[in-house]
Amino acid sequence: MKKIIDLTGKEQEFEGCMACTLNKGELELFGGVIYQNDYFMVAQDFEVPINGFIIISTKRHVSSINEFSETEKFEFVMLIDKVLKTLKDIGIAKEFILLQGERSDVHFHMSLFPRHDWMSEKFGRVVSSMKQIQEYAMANMRTPENIKLIAETCKMLKEKLNKEKL
Ligand SMILES: [Zn+2]
Repeated sequence: MKKIIDLTGKEQEFEGCMACTLNKGELELFGGVIYQNDYFMVAQDFEVPINGFIIISTKRHVSSINEFSETEKFEFVMLIDKVLKTLKDIGIAKEFILLQGERSDVHFHMSLFPRHDWMSEKFGRVVSSMKQIQEYAMANMRTPENIKLIAETCKMLKEKLNKEKL
């Protein structure tokens, strides 16, 4: 059994691949599934309490864009565009850092990391401080107000993204 602590501090256990377990609905996801189609799932990052820190993961257990079907490649770019635009429309951040680390033993996911003002004010260059920013958020930002804010963002994204099906 593997153990995971979510962004509220709640512990859950799972076996095998975390993303596959999430896709099966066997882990309770903070903020729920924001959006899904046949190929991808969109959710708030499981562990890090940063508002609008969004993960897009595949439904299939693959680890690289190179393994995507033609349809998945097309749907992926359309979905990133849609999610990014929606995040900006609802005022989460003006710009995001898109991150995807290929690893043969890790289920494909891409992070949409918001550039919040507090990050550059506290840490300088956001790209080179992403690890410290996430550690800082996990240590200091599990406050009821911030958790509430993240939950509201998830709800807003859910409504906007599901209004017009992709
Ligand atoms: Zn998997």
